[in-house]
Amino acid sequence: MIRAIRGTRDLLPPDTDLWNRVEAKVRDVFARYNFNEIRTPIFEDTSLFARGVGEDTDIVTKEMFTWEDKGRAASEKSQSLTLRPENTAGVVRAYIEHGLDKQGKLQKLYYIGPQFRRERPQKGRYRQFYQIGAEIIGPPSAGSESPARDAEVIEMLATLLNDLGLRGWALELNSVGGAADRARYNQALRVALKPLVYQMCSDCQRRAETNPLRVLDCKVPEDQPIIEKLPKISAYLDDACREHFAAVRAMLDAVGIPYTINERMVRGLDYYTRTTFEFTHGDLGAQSAVVGGGRYDGLSESLDGPRAPGIGFAIGEDRLILALEAEGVTAAGSLDAYIAPLGAGMNSHALKLARELRRAGVRCDLGDESFRLKKSFEAAKRAGARYIVIVGENEVNSGEFAVKELASGKQETVVREKLKAYLSS
Ligand code: AMP
Repeated sequence: MIRAIRGTRDLLPPDTDLWNRVEAKVRDVFARYNFNEIRTPIFEDTSLFARGVGEDTDIVTKEMFTWEDKGRAASEKSQSLTLRPENTAGVVRAYIEHGLDKQGKLQKLYYIGPQFRRERPQKGRYRQFYQIGAEIIGPPSAGSESPARDAEVIEMLATLLNDLGLRGWALELNSVGGAADRARYNQALRVALKPLVYQMCSDCQRRAETNPLRVLDCKVPEDQPIIEKLPKISAYLDDACREHFAAVRAMLDAVGIPYTINERMVRGLDYYTRTTFEFTHGDLGAQSAVVGGGRYDGLSESLDGPRAPGIGFAIGEDRLILALEAEGVTAAGSLDAYIAPLGAGMNSHALKLARELRRAGVRCDLGDESFRLKKSFEAAKRAGARYIVIVGENEVNSGEFAVKELASGKQETVVREKLKAYLSS
């Protein structure tokens, strides 16, 4: 038997109902903040991620699905391609490729789609997973560097999570400064790590050389006491970054969004500058991060694009769904009525009635005239219908239908014209 690949999942009904409800709410909320959808390819040139996400990140060194795509003709060169592990690099590539900066305004873009990372699968961590993300990017003259944009995306996320009915979320905030701050901080970490790093895991030993900031991402329990004592990034921020961060916090305070500062949260991607943030949820165990985001003021230039500061985030949709389910939000049974034709020749009458009701917005399922009454009731229950409507010769002739609510067993006779209102009440 052929099975789905480890780390990938089939999403089946009724679960997909909750996924669709989440995505519909996302589109509704994002539209109210003037975000528009962008769809980028699922695979890209490998160097986009190597340069965008960062050569020494876990994603690029260990987790990408990369292959050599041979040219079809002998003259065609082969090319290294990669399934996207995240979507910000692709959005910024598209921004540059299509010259969106020339519109001279802020681009507010969102995406919903699968991402791929070769991680060790566990609950909340998959090799194909789904992200819902948004980016605000544009020339500095359009206000793309403003702390107001950071506050706007964070406030939008809080609104979305609340509107979805999620309660147990927490927001963690940090600033990782600008490129110069990070260089000074990296140097300080390098110095601090020198006498200690031999006690740490092999990944940290490598990172201490190549990119000491990434040591803060380490999850190895034995390394944590050492990491806790390392210098803190806040001491290395220049005045402009400090003020920017203070302005973001003041705006969040003004709209009453609670957060805590987590100085270790540098996030696993190299492109972040200044504000970084995560929304976590207490019911998710080890994989508690539901949303990750931050500012990436130098990303466009590192991909040979124009200066285009930006800020964005990605919601892990799989984890958002797990968190909602943990709080008891489930897929709703949504079938209003099961139309049961009884006896020979009733199929087309039942189809006609179902057609009227469906066109009026009632969710109907339709049985078959070969079913006896008992079988129709069983089928209606299995389909999850709230009501069953009997379509027999008497009903068709009189225009009065026997309607039974399956849960209560209550039965009433309803005239054809009133059926729509009755069934969708
Ligand atoms: P990142 O792109 O690493 O900042 O991740 C943003 C969000 O995507 C995380 O907070 C998770 O919710 C989600 N995510 C990242 N990797 C995975 C994965 N392998 N499986 C499921 N969700 C993931």
